[in-house]
Amino acid sequence: MPIQCDYHMHTPLCKHAAGPMEAYVERGIELGLKEIGFSDHNPLPDGRGANVRMAEEELDYYVNRVQELQLQYRGKIDVKLGIELDFIEGLEDYLAAQIARYPWDYIIGSCHYFDNACQIGTWTRQFPGTPDQQWVRYCEQVKKLARSGLCDIIAHLDVVKRSTKQPTSVGLDAITGALEEIARTGVCMEINTSGYRHSELNSPQPYPNLAFVEMALKLGIPLTVNSDSHAPQQVGTMFPTIENFLHVRGCRQLCRFDQRQRMTYDL
Ligand SMILES: [Zn+2]
Ligand SMILES: [Zn+2]
Repeated sequence: MPIQCDYHMHTPLCKHAAGPMEAYVERGIELGLKEIGFSDHNPLPDGRGANVRMAEEELDYYVNRVQELQLQYRGKIDVKLGIELDFIEGLEDYLAAQIARYPWDYIIGSCHYFDNACQIGTWTRQFPGTPDQQWVRYCEQVKKLARSGLCDIIAHLDVVKRSTKQPTSVGLDAITGALEEIARTGVCMEINTSGYRHSELNSPQPYPNLAFVEMALKLGIPLTVNSDSHAPQQVGTMFPTIENFLHVRGCRQLCRFDQRQRMTYDL
């Protein structure tokens, strides 16, 4: 069976995605997906990272819109309610309270920032330190996210490569350590195909690189494949390639989610 679910869609509410939500869903139907899920960037308090996420007062509207689409497309495709949650140390209670307020199907956890004020991006080229320090610090944060229990899916592992800084052996060890911790906690990880669209990467690869996907398979990490679409035509980016990659390596099951319960379907 082909990949059936794409759980990582953004909306214009985050200010850097385009197209009506219906257009994402219609594209999912066109591609033959069984499930499509929205997971726009979550609100954060005190205007943190406000330029790339919905405002607190828009969260109700966002949830309502996804629920409307669930009804509108019933019988054609299952529309899922998700959110991309920024993991920020010190804000765990705020994040837990935000999650508790709505009937999410899944939470995608991301490490986009190093600092509590959301000023230093994890894949910034201006990171104040060496590339090794950047990779190590990022991977430490991913491990904390995995342990936090706040999310169901770990987003775009190895996104630091978007800074164009490739990991040396120190960075590679750090990523391996993060994968081992993800495996230990049992949380699901996404293969995020937006990397195939990011021209700053020097070779087209998903997040994480396919070599790490292979490692994840060996470690038994539950996987899902997501496009991280910021425009409707990006839905299902490179899914046939990933499908083939997984199939050749004997991966026969991927994860799906419903009301934060994880299930599998056959690939
Ligand atoms: Zn985004
Ligand atoms: Zn995203």
